[in-house]
Amino acid sequence: MSLLRIYADTRGRDRCKSCQAAIEWAELVSSGRRMPFNAPIAVVKLEQDTVGRLVEVVDASVTLSHFATCPERAEWRRREARQPKLTHHELQRSLYGDTRRRR
Ligand SMILES: [Zn+2]
Repeated sequence: MSLLRIYADTRGRDRCKSCQAAIEWAELVSSGRRMPFNAPIAVVKLEQDTVGRLVEVVDASVTLSHFATCPERAEWRRREARQPKLTHHELQRSLYGDTRRRR
């Protein structure tokens, strides 16, 4: 079982702009990056970080990254290939708009 930790207060429902699937964004504790998951996110355990912020533990074999499962992901790769200098954040922004406004 592969576990991911996300901050509970960063979760936000959305739709994939490529395939319209229901997705849910959350910030990964490990990297601080926002990831789109296939909704709903299945939480297996609750934890708190050192300052008491609620962390949700997610089974990554059940709740998959939408990056990995989007039927339009080939299109994402083509965009990536055309713009190889894009960072992960810039790629997300080009696909989903500026996600920072939801914080
Ligand atoms: Zn999609």
